[in-house]
Amino acid sequence: MAALTQVARSMPYSTGGNLSNLRPEARADLMRIGLRSGHAVGVYQTTEGAHNDPRHNGTSANHPEWNSASLSGLGVDVNQIDGVDIGSYANANPEAAGLVESVKNAAESVSGVRTVLGPSGHTKSNQYGGARTGRSFSGSLKDQHQSHFHITFYRATERN
Ligand SMILES: [Zn+2]
Repeated sequence: MAALTQVARSMPYSTGGNLSNLRPEARADLMRIGLRSGHAVGVYQTTEGAHNDPRHNGTSANHPEWNSASLSGLGVDVNQIDGVDIGSYANANPEAAGLVESVKNAAESVSGVRTVLGPSGHTKSNQYGGARTGRSFSGSLKDQHQSHFHITFYRATERN
């Protein structure tokens, strides 16, 4: 019974994002993040909205030269964990700090996760399963991501 409860709590859920628009490899990795953290992530955007990272819907709002339909369905924005709001613009929710840390650590441990950009930092791996390094995290980029995690995934053809 405890195991079943654990799996259910780890299931990603939608707070507005259409999870069926994610590629299967991205959905599987989102599940891994849930299982490894023991927490369920609430996704408010997958392919919805305008983003700079083309891994949401294949287009970049600020770098059209990055546009590629082959990257669509490989990004999520997570604004809740276990039903707790992560924060608002420029203000992380202190009551979510432990949940945020758990999800960050779990996401950074998954080989197929490329970028993890959330309230406490920004890291990116150099390739599938590769070394992860800290990236720029200040100003408006930091302020924007106090309200959510932006997590992206490698597509199947990038995994070998
Ligand atoms: Zn995003």
